[in-house]
Amino acid sequence: MTPDATARRGHALRAAVEQNLLTPDNPVIGLLDVTGIHEAAAALQEAFATPGVTVTHTFAVKAAALVPVLRLLNGLGLGAEVASPGELAIARAAGLPADRIVLDSPAKTVAELREALTLGIAVNADNPQELGRLDTLVAAAPTTSPIGLRVNPQIGGGSIGAMSTATATSKFGVALRDEGAEQWILRAYADRPWLNRLHTHTGSQGVPLDLMAAGVRAAYDLAERINTAAGRRQITTLDIGGGLPVNFTSDEVTPTFHDYARLLRATVPGLFDGRYTIVTEFGRSLLAKAGTVLARVEYAKSAGGRPIAITHAGAQLATRTVFVPDAWPLRVEALDAKGRPKGGDPVVQDVAGPCCFAGDLLAQARPLPLLEAGDLVALLDTGAYYFSNHFAYNSLPRPAVHGYHASADGSVTFARVRAAQTTESVLAESGFNESEALTGLNRD
Ligand SMILES: *Cc1c(COP(=O)(O)O)cnc(C)c1O
Repeated sequence: MTPDATARRGHALRAAVEQNLLTPDNPVIGLLDVTGIHEAAAALQEAFATPGVTVTHTFAVKAAALVPVLRLLNGLGLGAEVASPGELAIARAAGLPADRIVLDSPAKTVAELREALTLGIAVNADNPQELGRLDTLVAAAPTTSPIGLRVNPQIGGGSIGAMSTATATSKFGVALRDEGAEQWILRAYADRPWLNRLHTHTGSQGVPLDLMAAGVRAAYDLAERINTAAGRRQITTLDIGGGLPVNFTSDEVTPTFHDYARLLRATVPGLFDGRYTIVTEFGRSLLAKAGTVLARVEYAKSAGGRPIAITHAGAQLATRTVFVPDAWPLRVEALDAKGRPKGGDPVVQDVAGPCCFAGDLLAQARPLPLLEAGDLVALLDTGAYYFSNHFAYNSLPRPAVHGYHASADGSVTFARVRAAQTTESVLAESGFNESEALTGLNRD
């Protein structure tokens, strides 16, 4: 029998030490549970599977911008939601076909739009000015790209302001409830027979499910009105975005893709009656639970009576957790030097990172078995947004990421997903090849 996710992670943490993935030179690494990724993708596909309805699940690349991850998801039938030339390049390098790529982004340049239309990948326009650019490009060269418009149903925010894309004043999409907006949208579709999708993504972590479903309902209702006005099924595809929140407090997966799909079937039954193709764009909920950061405790000290473990994982990879700790708390597991759970009574302590600012704390006043130099910490549920959104503070390198497969007997096979960034690469990013740039400029 396949061990469960908790058991697999335990095996992998020990094996990562045994197999020398964590070395003096590599004091922090990322680990990805390949079985967990398979399971999440299957759960998503099963949850939305509906006879007679085509559903394309794209993965929001920003959540784990790693070519091997995209390649794995590609093999499982998923696509990619991209929002920059880099993310598009990653999706293409992973072999994703054009018809499973969606380009969203609030700031697409003309060149990006042209490339997308040339490749035939789907584009969701964010605003009237972008639609104007598309008018010019579509007139200049015919395209097979499905093209949609992103709307903001303005249904309100969730518990994390920065993640709430459907507030009254959100920067994303066309604000649906603003005066004259719907009339403008109806006109925009009437004028453009090639506009055949409608897109909404009403938020990420912190947005409750009923609000997400209300956003999808608003987009669906609008699509119905557009199609009625057009007298034909002009909108063929509804892109409902991603945003399923993740439980960061335990190993339990909640809410599940099934919970959300069930709610959508109840709130927006017409979405599943076969008249529309569905596109989704989940990120965090597909990858978060599969990832773990493993870091060494370099020193353990005490200040003002507070024990502090100085680890190698800090703001450079857990940026949001460090800067907005109340919104992005992470579970920290205390491990011994062999990667086994540490025993001992909980002691209130700080778990700090390597960055040179006082706020570089992964956990503050957290009761954990007392960490000592040479111990390890595991940061749980870090598979999404922690491995691909590096913050180059102190010129700290991006850590290596390894995928793992844990067998029933506890043996673990690793495969490197990304090498640790080298000092040479850090130097190159730091203008090494332009070393003389400033000394060579003349002084007046
Ligand atoms: C970030 C983003 C997603 C993915 O959000 P998750 O919360 O990771 O599921 C999907 N669509 C768009 C447009 C996004 O910006």
